[in-house]
Amino acid sequence: MVPAPTCQEFVELVTDYLEGATSPAVTARVDAHLGRCSDCRTYLAQMRHTVRALGALPPEPVSPAAERDLLRLCRRSRLGCGSPPRA
Ligand SMILES: [Zn+2]
Repeated sequence: MVPAPTCQEFVELVTDYLEGATSPAVTARVDAHLGRCSDCRTYLAQMRHTVRALGALPPEPVSPAAERDLLRLCRRSRLGCGSPPRA
């Protein structure tokens, strides 16, 4: 039995997974991880939403650590990150 990937591996694989670029073995491992990890199911749903919004995959998946750093920076800035720009 092939071990399921960790969350970190999942984040690294998710763009390939969404593009259907992973091998059947890897796809099965990712599916197995998704089956027992609700955090990664949420992450995958967000990635799918992002893909729909952008019409393409982002060049790099956003890791949880990068996301935390980004959110911390956003909160410190006065740009109101997350709210739509005012016209
Ligand atoms: Zn996970």
